[in-house]
Amino acid sequence: MYPFTYTKAADTREALNAGRRGGRYIAGGTTLVDLMRETVERPGSLVDISALPLREVTVTRSGGLRLGALVRMAEAAAHPKVRSLYPVISQALELSASAQLRNMATIGGNIMQRTRCTYFRDVTAACNKREPGSGCAARDGYNRSHAILGTSDSCVATHPSDLAVALAALEATLHLLGPDGERTMPFADFLLQPGSTPNREQALKPGELITAVEIPAHPRPLRSGYLKVRDRQSYEFALTSAAVALHIGGGVIRAAKVAAGGVGTVPWKLPAVEQALIGERPSDRLWTEAAGHAADGARPLTHNGFKAELLTRTVERQLRTVGGTA
Ligand SMILES: Cc1cc2nc3c(=O)[nH]c(=O)nc-3n(C[C@H](O)[C@H](O)[C@H](O)COP(=O)(O)OP(=O)(O)OC[C@H]3O[C@@H](n4cnc5c(N)ncnc54)[C@H](O)[C@@H]3O)c2cc1C
Ligand code: SF4
Repeated sequence: MYPFTYTKAADTREALNAGRRGGRYIAGGTTLVDLMRETVERPGSLVDISALPLREVTVTRSGGLRLGALVRMAEAAAHPKVRSLYPVISQALELSASAQLRNMATIGGNIMQRTRCTYFRDVTAACNKREPGSGCAARDGYNRSHAILGTSDSCVATHPSDLAVALAALEATLHLLGPDGERTMPFADFLLQPGSTPNREQALKPGELITAVEIPAHPRPLRSGYLKVRDRQSYEFALTSAAVALHIGGGVIRAAKVAAGGVGTVPWKLPAVEQALIGERPSDRLWTEAAGHAADGARPLTHNGFKAELLTRTVERQLRTVGGTA
């Protein structure tokens, strides 16, 4: 390790002041400390935000759900309101990392985690995300786990968060607080595709904090769930994943929310799949037809061509499970 300063913010004002002076927020520390050990990240000053009052889970007046940024992944997954209103969130969290990590790691930190691209984590490799302009070792390297959607010539890394896939599907909003005050932002605009600046990963302004995630009220009853396909059954990131939420009334699909993980440079919303479902009656044929749009626009690399078909099958299976014809 290298020298850095550490302060623990007693309240939000103290945290923002330290953030404004260039301090880097640390919540559960489960990913930032790793990256510091590997010298991928070298913040000169850490601001511990774990004591801030951002640990509430509340049902909003409109019937949506608000998760404070410092709610632990395990707490959120087990919360009765999360389980009953949005099982897709509980399942995405429970299928993430390990029990020990979920007990420490927070909702805000999970959204902010950085890619697991091995070249990004190897400081001797070329990586435009870590060192702009140095190249991308993954493009022509071993890219089995990399993205097939939203890639650019500069970067092909996936976003690793499972929770973020559920948030993308459910069209969540982020609550942010910074030196200029509070603002909200659709989650869809928060994580940035790489383009020519893969080092710029989120739309946060300097010193801004995520304070909460809000899921809007969706028509009820809403059936939802998360399917994650990976090389091992636990403690592994997704090769592909699907978050699905369906509102079925009078035997017809009235609302459909679908997103995929493990395949995009950001969590990947699937509007063509959603459109194919709305107004239709659940059937095996419908799931297959709708899932046929899941990999629209995919551009596989040398080692990850299998992901397009795996994604289609993942989405189809999860539509069938959530839609009730499994
Ligand atoms: C071995 C291993 C396996 C894992 N497997 C999975 C998996 O399968 N699926 C998955 O989704 N995740 C997985 N993870 C990632 C894990 O979920 C993250 O490490 C965790 O969610 C990060 O949360 P944290 O609170 O510890 O973040 P920290 O390490 O404290 O912070 C991470 C980043 O977020 C920033 N930050 C934190 N809170 C805020 C805030 N409120 N506002 C603004 N910035 C903030 C920090 O500055 C830092 O840049 C795995 C991690 C490990 C180590
Ligand atoms: S894919 Fe992105 S993160 Fe991985 S080496 Fe290339 S630029 Fe770096």
